[in-house]
Amino acid sequence: MNKKIEDAINAQINAELWSAYLYLSMGTNFRAKGLDGIANWFEVQFKEEQDHAMIFYKYMQSRGARVILKPIAKVQTDWKSPVEAFEDTLAHEKKVTEMIHNINKLAIEAKDYATQNRMVWFVDEQVEEEEEAGKNLEALKAIGDNALGLFMFDKELGARQYHQASALK
Ligand code: MG
Repeated sequence: MNKKIEDAINAQINAELWSAYLYLSMGTNFRAKGLDGIANWFEVQFKEEQDHAMIFYKYMQSRGARVILKPIAKVQTDWKSPVEAFEDTLAHEKKVTEMIHNINKLAIEAKDYATQNRMVWFVDEQVEEEEEAGKNLEALKAIGDNALGLFMFDKELGARQYHQASALK
């Protein structure tokens, strides 16, 4: 595998694990505030991000490339409101999307067709990530200070269940 692509995927593994850490931090923040449904949503997100890291981890090994695990930077520990957390989530996922697109760009330049194929799943996944974070943010903005609205929204997010990523199976 091209060294630039190998480095970019190692950086991506770190970014996915950092994302997992970020969402777990959001999860515990909302558990502490009694918003258990929103906490559940972020805890499921935590598991999904770990899956993303593992998909790259396995892919690197399939290609005979070496996974290098780097330190995981600290994450924020407190969010004033669910709106703030979903704003951060959406902004973060947009950055992740750029990183995914960059790996794809490197793979195209290097005529690395296997990596291009592997990236298809991630390109689609990022569309979903941004869409879902955006929807939750819009819903929370519409709810505003309505306590019943927040109660209902929290209940809805409490129903989210973790399913292992299809690309990992
Ligand atoms: Mg991810």
